[in-house]
Amino acid sequence: MSAGRDTRPWNFSAGPSALPLEVLEQAAGEMTSWQGSGMSVMEMSHRGKHFTQIRDEAVADLRELLSVPDSFDILFMQGGATAENAIVPMNLLGRNGAGKADYIVSGAWSSKSFKEAQRYGDIALAAGNGEAKVIDGREQAAGTWFPAPDTWALRPDAAYVHLCGNETIGGVEFTEWPDMAAMGVPDVPLVVDASSHFLSRPIDFSKVGVVYAGAQKNAGPAGVTVVIIRKDLLGHALPVCPSAFDYANVAAAGSMFNTPPTYAIYMAGLVFKWLKRQGGIAAIEAENIRKAKALYDYLDSSSFYVNTVHPAVRSRMNVPFFLKDESLNAEFLSQAEARGLLQLKGHKSVGGMRASIYNAVPFEGVQALITFMQEFERSHG
Ligand SMILES: *Cc1c(COP(=O)(O)O)cnc(C)c1O
Repeated sequence: MSAGRDTRPWNFSAGPSALPLEVLEQAAGEMTSWQGSGMSVMEMSHRGKHFTQIRDEAVADLRELLSVPDSFDILFMQGGATAENAIVPMNLLGRNGAGKADYIVSGAWSSKSFKEAQRYGDIALAAGNGEAKVIDGREQAAGTWFPAPDTWALRPDAAYVHLCGNETIGGVEFTEWPDMAAMGVPDVPLVVDASSHFLSRPIDFSKVGVVYAGAQKNAGPAGVTVVIIRKDLLGHALPVCPSAFDYANVAAAGSMFNTPPTYAIYMAGLVFKWLKRQGGIAAIEAENIRKAKALYDYLDSSSFYVNTVHPAVRSRMNVPFFLKDESLNAEFLSQAEARGLLQLKGHKSVGGMRASIYNAVPFEGVQALITFMQEFERSHG
């Protein structure tokens, strides 16, 4: 019925991105009748027993995978991470009456978050990487490093501080999330846009108040946004906040305040079960480390390609790289595609190439990319 692994190309899209073949095949098999119900998941009442089971299992599996403490709620929402750029301030700025929040801007996505939040309150830039900087003796261009927490200008009466854990476009990943008490602002929860590294590594929930992620990078198809929120942060929405986007309403209704994106939740649930079969987050993280190391080691050993992100904050998920001779870009992409290596073109704001090597891209796929890159280097270097 479907093309197997031997014929299916490797997909390096940044998002929507590769899904595990097993998950796609299971969904195909259940397309017209989910587990003998006689209905596609798309045709079921969201309040019926079948979909309730799908929702409950998705929440329980996600909680187990990430060891989400009981003090946090798991919500399935809509609007993507872009809508969260407004939903977060609308829900949290009312926490303490000050109406303030601080933002770390480390690339394109956190820059959008920072701008959108300004519509709702007193939003300050706590730190940014918009300038070149020398770090460890390396000249780092703007956007290729991450501001260290000891440089963040935090306001103790801010309702929260926001950062992007993985800048999907710049390929900058920051995971040394500081303890806000140790930073001198114990009442300021950290809010993290984790869209493009969600489920690729563990999350330390003692360090965060809210983690959110659009599913279409690493957790499922587009259409569902996962929000994991500490329960004491619920119930502070500004009056302007739409009821369907008030975290307290969504939490109280088990993500069914209104019709949720049922099929996307079902697909994400299949991805969670697939992850459990892979051995869970520790196992997939080990694989992600192995994949990223192979690709970065090759890039660093080559004089034909280059990645310019500071090594300490290179993303395990999104690897932007450039051919030193950019006149070869089009030929690189067309030969890659002919070899079954898809969607390697870099984001238009950065140029060059980008290989997104999410959970669903196995080591074998990364190896196929490296082999092609070596051959291309040999024939054009
Ligand atoms: C893709 C992405 C977004 C935007 O997601 P949408 O679903 O298009 O709103 C925001 N933040 C990060 C880190 C992303 O990778």
